Amino acid sequence: MKSLVCGGAGFLGSHLVDRLLAHGHTVVVADNFITGRYVNLAHLKDCASLQVAHQDMTRPLTGDAFAGPFDRVFNLASPASPRGYRRFPIETHLVNALGTLQALELARRDDARFLQASTSEVYGDPLVHPQTEDYWGNVNPNGPRSCYDEGKRFAESLTLEFVRQYGLDARIARIFNTYGPRSNPEDGRVVPNFCVQALRDEPITIYGNGDQTRSFCYVDDLVRGLLALMETDGLAGEVVNLGNPDECTVRELADRVVALAGSSSPIVNAALPVDDPTRRRPDIAKAKRLLTWEPTVGLDEGLAATIAYFGQTLPSPHPATRH
Ligand code: UDP
Repeated sequence: MKSLVCGGAGFLGSHLVDRLLAHGHTVVVADNFITGRYVNLAHLKDCASLQVAHQDMTRPLTGDAFAGPFDRVFNLASPASPRGYRRFPIETHLVNALGTLQALELARRDDARFLQASTSEVYGDPLVHPQTEDYWGNVNPNGPRSCYDEGKRFAESLTLEFVRQYGLDARIARIFNTYGPRSNPEDGRVVPNFCVQALRDEPITIYGNGDQTRSFCYVDDLVRGLLALMETDGLAGEVVNLGNPDECTVRELADRVVALAGSSSPIVNAALPVDDPTRRRPDIAKAKRLLTWEPTVGLDEGLAATIAYFGQTLPSPHPATRH
């Protein structure tokens, strides 16, 4: 089996590549490394079954790496953290539009199965809770998050047209907040921020009053869900939420990280970003029914593994203060 993973040097993409290689796939990664990181694939540098193409998915796919034929095309190419897509807003629009088009065309050329990574952000600041796949969302179409939200909504729409117009066997995963080892400590997301701050005994920055909720899924569970969505037969055109429905406030998250890290960090409040969703929790009944999938890693277990990872990989700026 030959798989193309667009965005394979990202946090989720690199874990997916690991699983595909473990299942015996030959894997081609396409990544332009604007938010993807070489370090995420460093452990695979001698792997003969992996080819990494430094490729912007909006540019012509002329390299040998794209000769295929591919059996599976996973399209995860896009900045995905709020800091990442605010830093690269036009790139985010374009990769979700032109990049998705090119990934879809490759899948169509090879009659490959296709998986589009979408996001809970297509629900915006949701008025329906928990979010089911048939909810159309409450998205600000031109606010600071719209490059990502509308980019992913366009990618979903285009993918579904390839199913309707060409009979492509494509599926869409709406991915909710995911965390774990290899998440980028610089990308501003709440779990890496809190873990790094706690490990350094620096102030934990809660944006707003911390009453907003998220539902955090451990990366291994999420990747297992992506593979189940790709490998289950008969799902062309299906849109499926993937995430952990265990909802918690950002304040609760801060308290748990501080406790698990044994940290003496104080909690401080900072400004809430514009259009920050108030509540978010996936309804995963559809994933359970179609994929027989549900998350198994609880938040404390997953956070402990993530804190341990950052503890091993982060240079401490204040080594003398750690005991
Ligand atoms: N957040 C926070 N402190 C941080 C980073 C994020 O309070 O240092 C909040 C953010 O305002 C949001 C939630 O945590 O309400 C999740 O933010 P993240 O950027 O991880 O992902 P989002 O779900 O917003 O895409």
